[in-house]
Amino acid sequence: MNARANKTGSLWGLLCVMLVLVLAGCSGNGSAQGVSEDGKLLVTATTGMIGDAAREIGGEHVEVTTLMGPGVDPHLFKASQGDIRKLDRAAVVFYGGLHLEGNMERVLVKMAAQKTVVAVTDDMPRDRLIGSEETGEFDPHVWFNVDLWTIAAETVRDTLIEKDPANAEAYRKQGERYLNELKELDAYVRERMLEIPAEGRVLVTAHDAFGYFGKAYEVEVVGLQGISTAAEFGARDVSALRDYLVERNIKAVFVESSLPARSMQAIVAGAAQQGHDVTIGGELFSDAMGEPGTDEGTYIGMIRHNTDTIAEALK
Ligand SMILES: [Zn+2]
Repeated sequence: MNARANKTGSLWGLLCVMLVLVLAGCSGNGSAQGVSEDGKLLVTATTGMIGDAAREIGGEHVEVTTLMGPGVDPHLFKASQGDIRKLDRAAVVFYGGLHLEGNMERVLVKMAAQKTVVAVTDDMPRDRLIGSEETGEFDPHVWFNVDLWTIAAETVRDTLIEKDPANAEAYRKQGERYLNELKELDAYVRERMLEIPAEGRVLVTAHDAFGYFGKAYEVEVVGLQGISTAAEFGARDVSALRDYLVERNIKAVFVESSLPARSMQAIVAGAAQQGHDVTIGGELFSDAMGEPGTDEGTYIGMIRHNTDTIAEALK
């Protein structure tokens, strides 16, 4: 690079900084909106999985806040005043969309008139989603198909580049690294599921969060509840699932971190009464990640945990 280009570059840099300051000043209320005190882009994400992608790709240039922590059910989530503030101060808001966030989606769509609010499922081809293009109702649990989730990561990357072009190179580089890690993860899940004999590759869980997992990795998925945990389930569902377990000779069922375990325990007890031994194969992370600082507190760690738990219980 010659000196002149360098000088032009730094002039541009200075102009950009000034523009950011002016824009921040315009939005008022004292502190710079959308940028942290140390100059990082403020990003707010609804779920942990989305926040994790923003953290991985944004690195040191972003400050990510996640609204839904470990064990939180997104379908029933209601934004508190504190959550609204976290959304307000952000420069970019990422959410799942496809009605994952239930009632909160209305708030987010409204907010999109004032700031960058992006559903990470927006760029996913509709024919790769589970659901109906006619009714426009799709299963929102897309993160369980790791290959499909790479599109969400790309959407996060592209939004950060657009919003903060000064750090585009970093976002591109970190995006590439993360996408490669996701590609490896996808291969890992596929490999581990093949360790389970095909006839026993049945995943029984409390709610239908694992449809994408099943479709992508050739696992039959049986859920007690519908796509959203907001739907009630009754005694009839419990006995139907119990009969299915006995009939198919299924060895293990799984509980989920963001749902109470009692429905699955009732099914295990019911099967035992009919002389069929079913165990709880372990706890899966479905709609929320594990505690921060643990392996399961990241998207990759959560998927690996689920995969290993399922493979060990069923193989
Ligand atoms: Zn769910």
